[in-house]
Amino acid sequence: MYRETAMSIPFNKPTQVGREAEYMAQALQKNHLAGDGPFTKRAHALLEEVIGVPKALLTTSCTHALEMSALLLDLKEGDEVIVPSFTFVSTVNAFALRNATPIFADIRPDTLNLDETKLESLITPRTRAIAVVHYAGVGCEMDAILEIANRHHIPVVEDNAHGLFGTYKGRQLGTFGVMATQSFHETKNFTSGEGGALLINDPKYIEDAEILREKGTNRSRFFRGQVDKYTWVNIGSSYLPSDMLAAFLVAQLEERDQIQAKRRNIWETYYKELEAWAEENHVQMPFVPAHCEQTYHMFYLLFPNLENRQAAIAHLKERGIQAVFHYLPLHLSPMGEKYGGKPGDCPVTETISDQLLRLPFYTNMTEEDQRRVIEALKEFSVR
Ligand SMILES: *Cc1c(COP(=O)(O)O)cnc(C)c1O
Repeated sequence: MYRETAMSIPFNKPTQVGREAEYMAQALQKNHLAGDGPFTKRAHALLEEVIGVPKALLTTSCTHALEMSALLLDLKEGDEVIVPSFTFVSTVNAFALRNATPIFADIRPDTLNLDETKLESLITPRTRAIAVVHYAGVGCEMDAILEIANRHHIPVVEDNAHGLFGTYKGRQLGTFGVMATQSFHETKNFTSGEGGALLINDPKYIEDAEILREKGTNRSRFFRGQVDKYTWVNIGSSYLPSDMLAAFLVAQLEERDQIQAKRRNIWETYYKELEAWAEENHVQMPFVPAHCEQTYHMFYLLFPNLENRQAAIAHLKERGIQAVFHYLPLHLSPMGEKYGGKPGDCPVTETISDQLLRLPFYTNMTEEDQRRVIEALKEFSVR
């Protein structure tokens, strides 16, 4: 969607960090191009070890991993799922596909994460799941959220698309819910162009997840020699990426320290260079609680209102710099309205959605390009 023109600074540029082409050549040489080949196994092992989850399964996208979570939780018509209104559409669409009813939660004005103080009032006897999003890779208040969820016996799914390798109180994001989903889309910190993963923490879902991902068959057990033939045992679909994509992904995951160090440097430079300007202009900077290690997924600013946010985007565009906004409140979307969403339901989401601007941010952003963005923004004043 965001493409570069000459001399312009795009919002995002996918970055290759080293051995992507080499690993893809190896996958070609091994001639295992379908899913669950050697590189997929490497990716699973790496994710399981580094994050500390019992099971990681690569998927074709985070959207598909979320769809798997809705199927694994056996959601049905009339079941309610609490989701933040301020998120990417897939977080809610996965549950809507199962005919579950989304119940939209508002966000905190500081971290823009689901507001845990408003969570319990949304729970009803029909609540079957709570989906949280670690926005910008900053952890939600998981202690409070899990305390409420556990007391009501409601499973939590973490949409961790922004938060791979981030931590909350020293514990990896993706390890709090019964399961968590990752995205390897080209706009994320680690990418294979398109891709995702389902992380499973509650072991009772592992076997069903393997079956679901393999067209409803017990093929995974067959390959492990646990059964002597494989057959259709449940409903399922095909959620495995090609081993070619896993090869690309492994090259990125192995360079996680390099990638995160570069992104951290870009984020910190934006913060340091824009702090004084932001204060003068009543622009709010991102907030990261001391107990959260963030993932440097994005750099956003909150302008006083929609008019000056739009003026800032236009100002940057005139200088060849692509800044973008997101998310439109889901409860006010045409689909959200069908579920009864109306203005005022999630006031913080509605305000933040008008105010938020994301600056160009990608792993291989040059110092010179970042300097151009910073200088251009400093020439802008909020009136
Ligand atoms: C990117 C994103 C997704 C979807 O990821 P895909 O891999 O493109 O399906 C879901 N949720 C959030 C919060 C995202 O940012």
